[in-house]
Amino acid sequence: MLNIVLFGPPGAGKGTQSAKLIEKYSLTHISTGDLFRKHLSEGTELGQLAKKYMDEGNLVPDQVVIDMVDDKIKDSGDIKGIIFDGFPRTVAQAEALDMLLNGKGTPVTGMIALEVNEEELKNRILERGKTSGRADDQDINKVENRIKVYKNETLPVAEYYKGQDKFASINGVGTIDSIFDSICSEINQLNN
Ligand code: AMP
Repeated sequence: MLNIVLFGPPGAGKGTQSAKLIEKYSLTHISTGDLFRKHLSEGTELGQLAKKYMDEGNLVPDQVVIDMVDDKIKDSGDIKGIIFDGFPRTVAQAEALDMLLNGKGTPVTGMIALEVNEEELKNRILERGKTSGRADDQDINKVENRIKVYKNETLPVAEYYKGQDKFASINGVGTIDSIFDSICSEINQLNN
């Protein structure tokens, strides 16, 4: 199995690149942000709970996220691998993911981080906000809080995978296709 953690701050292009990766490698996509938005649109209890945090750009509590991902992995059946997008976002989530996947004998293959400077991130998110309908993409204060939360709570997850010698980073600024090519060459190296 090819289990890739696609990492990077909000607006780095994880969703865009995930869509291309799942097609090329026939992988399953687990985006925790998308899963929460689906719950929200279906009006589930989980969606209501997540909304409080998402609206402010804060993280949903670890155990809520971990249980949702656990269910999703259990439901996924016979698959070639998973692209994790927007998860894990804390070291506790990374440890839980290791437990889940190691228990199945299919560990994380590697993390690929998309590097994008802060000005570019803010511009991309606000631009996306014009069409995404996401409240958290439209308000500069919320966008800035999401970037702050990323730096404080999520960046340590990169160190976690560096410690396991499973970390690679690439330049996330450029054309969609050139960034995709860089990710694919990292995946090819991880696979060898
Ligand atoms: P995203 O679409 O990945 O930018 O996620 C949107 C929002 O969903 C985040 O700002 C968080 O409030 C919540 N969220 C998504 N994934 C996670 C996660 N792994 N841990 C905690 N909160 C999350």
